Amino acid sequence: MTDPRRAIPRTDVVLADPRVAKAAATLGRELVKQVVSRTQQRARAGEIAPGAVLEEVLAGLPGGASSMRPVVNATGVIVHTNLGRAPLSAAALDAVAAAGGTTDVEFDLRDGSRASRGRGALEALAAAVPGAGGVHVVNNNAAALLLCALTLAPGREIVVSRGELVEIGDGFRIPDLLASTGARLREVGTTNRTRVADYADAIGPDTGFVLKVHPSNYRISGFTAEATVAGLAELAVPLVVDIGSGLLEPHPLLPDEPDAATSLRDGAALVTASGDKLLGGPQAGLLLGEAALVQRLRRHPAARALRVDKLTLAALEATLRGPVTPVRTALEADADELRRRAVKICEALHRHGIAGEVVSSAAAVGGGGAPGVELPSVAVSLPARYATRLRLGEPAVVGRLVRERCLLDLCAVPPEQDALVVEAVRRCG
Ligand SMILES: *Cc1c(COP(=O)(O)O)cnc(C)c1O
Repeated sequence: MTDPRRAIPRTDVVLADPRVAKAAATLGRELVKQVVSRTQQRARAGEIAPGAVLEEVLAGLPGGASSMRPVVNATGVIVHTNLGRAPLSAAALDAVAAAGGTTDVEFDLRDGSRASRGRGALEALAAAVPGAGGVHVVNNNAAALLLCALTLAPGREIVVSRGELVEIGDGFRIPDLLASTGARLREVGTTNRTRVADYADAIGPDTGFVLKVHPSNYRISGFTAEATVAGLAELAVPLVVDIGSGLLEPHPLLPDEPDAATSLRDGAALVTASGDKLLGGPQAGLLLGEAALVQRLRRHPAARALRVDKLTLAALEATLRGPVTPVRTALEADADELRRRAVKICEALHRHGIAGEVVSSAAAVGGGGAPGVELPSVAVSLPARYATRLRLGEPAVVGRLVRERCLLDLCAVPPEQDALVVEAVRRCG
């Protein structure tokens, strides 16, 4: 009897296949060799026929050299932290690709001298918020707060309301972050009520600044009172306002969401925000405010450790100057239009013998902000068993399980991905 294992094609034979060789050129030889050796093992274990090895290798090759896989966000949560928060606009993606090579991020092409890093992104941010005397960009909002604490309150006190001691997620807490700089937190007021007078009583020679934090992932309702930015701006120390989501101007659909322009107009000395929540850009921390304060932040030694990559600068500038972002499009999605898309998707599924139903749904802004705000949306409802298979598909589609149904909410799915969704569901059918 011949040993069937001898029929398994050798690694060099598989690698010599032109399609595999082409993949090795883009993915790297080592990565492709790993796929080959895993496939050979499956053949040795009798899981696949020796003659199917080449085919299985080709099917098993990843789409790219990174293990991160694209996901269709059908969760109905627009800014989903676990799915990488804001998806970038096509303009921002193009900018990232262009900046990925060598680029003039810190170079003046006119005279060949050194230029200020990321000036295009900073100019775009300043233009987007004309009320800011100065702007700066760091790694994320947490880094922006860290830099404020390091610069304005080393060994001193930060006065903050007990109602605004926020845990951002994954166990990270803003009070711990601030305390890690050596600053001391001076908590004032109570969980549900804090007045300007509470802050005023706590302010003394040791105060570095007053911090107001937007409760972006929870709500305190009922018998409540909070000090306004305008009220706190009257105090004799700098007021730093962490608005969280990165709205630069008020948005009519999110009346309770603070924005940078209004906070500055109301007297905040500095505003901090994330770039990858409602702003719809890359992960970044935005700092906007009084020119002299921003300059101090920029010159702090730690600023270098918090600075952003050229890819971030490129994506941020394109987000600020470019077309409407996917996040904003999702936020403003028209429910009737979503319904029309859902009907079309269900019709296509019916043609493949799959019974999807169009159902009304409620989307959310997500960890990015606006807790409790429900956005009218529409979903394609499938039996719950689809959820796992869709998640494991290529591309992965992540929906929401509600009462034994797998809902594919279309709010955060760009229309150009509808065909992908149909195809992904069909493959699971
Ligand atoms: C999200 C958030 C943060 C953390 O922002 P990152 O950009 O993730 O560091 C801080 N404060 C508030 C109010 C937030 O909403």
